[in-house]
Amino acid sequence: MVVDTDYLVVGAGATGLAFVDALVAESDVEVVMVDRQVAPGGHWLHAYPFVRLHTPSAYYGVNSLALGGDRIDEAGENAGYYERATGSEVREHFAEAAQRLVDTGRVRVLMGHEHVGGAGAGEQIRELGSGRLHDVVVRRKVVDARYLESSIPATHTLPFQVAAGARVVAVNDLPAAADGASSYAVLGSGKTAADACVWLLENGVDPDRIRWIRPRDAWFYDRRHWQPLDQVAAVMEGISLDAEAGANAADIEDVFDRLEASGRLVRIDPSSPARMYRGTMLSGGEVDALREIEDVVRLGRVRRIETDRIVLERGEAPTGPGVLHVDCTALGLNDAPATSIFQPGRIVLQQVRYLSPCFNAALIGFVEAHRDDDAEKNRLCPSTPYPSRIEDWPQLMCTTWGIETQWLSEPDLAAWMTASRLNLMRTLPEHATEPAVQTAVTRYLTHVGPAIEQISGWAKSGR
Ligand SMILES: Cc1cc2nc3c(=O)[nH]c(=O)nc-3n(C[C@H](O)[C@H](O)[C@H](O)COP(=O)(O)OP(=O)(O)OC[C@H]3O[C@@H](n4cnc5c(N)ncnc54)[C@H](O)[C@@H]3O)c2cc1C
Repeated sequence: MVVDTDYLVVGAGATGLAFVDALVAESDVEVVMVDRQVAPGGHWLHAYPFVRLHTPSAYYGVNSLALGGDRIDEAGENAGYYERATGSEVREHFAEAAQRLVDTGRVRVLMGHEHVGGAGAGEQIRELGSGRLHDVVVRRKVVDARYLESSIPATHTLPFQVAAGARVVAVNDLPAAADGASSYAVLGSGKTAADACVWLLENGVDPDRIRWIRPRDAWFYDRRHWQPLDQVAAVMEGISLDAEAGANAADIEDVFDRLEASGRLVRIDPSSPARMYRGTMLSGGEVDALREIEDVVRLGRVRRIETDRIVLERGEAPTGPGVLHVDCTALGLNDAPATSIFQPGRIVLQQVRYLSPCFNAALIGFVEAHRDDDAEKNRLCPSTPYPSRIEDWPQLMCTTWGIETQWLSEPDLAAWMTASRLNLMRTLPEHATEPAVQTAVTRYLTHVGPAIEQISGWAKSGR
């Protein structure tokens, strides 16, 4: 079989689907999407059972289809904030989004198909069930929607050895395995490890029965500053605090100290230096719960788990056969280096505005539909890697602040952004007369120029 199409999109995760959704809405093109998995949704297909979005559903998913009903949670650690979808709600959203694309008659979604790269003059895909190879004639572009493929505990290769008799489970298996354990050792520094600890606490486990093996201490955003729609003043406040810290700080450590003092960022243990920054967020309630866990092991990454000890980079900690070790060590966000998004014959989906994967992918789809020249497209869509360390903050912020101004000076793009549900700032004009918005806008405009001037030097020197 020979397949021909305008665009061949490799990966039907959040970014592949958000890109195609926007592209097809804005242009009369044909698309073939391929993905190895059995269903659309990427890493969400293998997410742990108690996962939720860490951001509100209101601006996650594809542009043309709402996720949830923009309700405010009334109880629990997210009380007062916009609802966050569960893993199954996210999977349902992407399944419906893919079906709606198929229903346009212009998109074919081939699950269980793997892209195996170019063969001679064309592209090839392999049908995983039969092993059959198919040539694909691509009239316009191949879209790499897997360059930033996520790494998660259910599917990654364990980065440490496990001796016979030691109990180690992926976080996915925690609910099923939790009952028989005498105590728990949660392995990992990031949001998944935090979720595992919160799940244990919420399920009645005494904090003294939880040991947290934390190779790095992390910064988290306070979720308060990521609330869209009627709470957009808080988003503006958060952004203005970033700019103020960038303009006034002496160095990157000082930036993070200032952001902590202003309530923009939190770390679980304020007495311990934190250098990890992944852009994930927690609510105040989650932070309070996590602070109840006092047994924190900071001896680097796990090398080996034996029946009576955990061997780490810089020492060891005792363990036992009754201890359930919960693997949360997968990388999560991919740390691939930035490359041009628009390349000859190819689009590589990546981060543009900070921490907005679905918005960015849709924006790239819009730009692909409405601009002709790759240099111009790359000007409007500069790429930045996902952050990992505090030293990544200056580059991320310089790109975000700089590009937002460019977008607003392009009338069609600005109009698209005003209408896009994926744009967490979209309701700002409607709330412009609120005192909190005005204070934040003034603070932002006062500081963003000096901030860019100061921290762009740090970004180049990696300071
Ligand atoms: C647990 C978790 C929670 C998150 N929560 C949020 C959140 O709340 N808000 C937010 O904004 N972001 C969140 N993120 C960030 C996340 O990166 C994005 O939400 C998004 O889901 C990533 O989608 P993706 O399409 O880039 O990658 P993936 O979901 O990894 O999809 C890549 C796809 O490419 C396919 N593929 C790879 N190679 C090939 C090949 N050769 N041929 C065919 N198919 C191939 C894979 O099978 C996979 O389906 C979260 C990330 C994780 C890990």
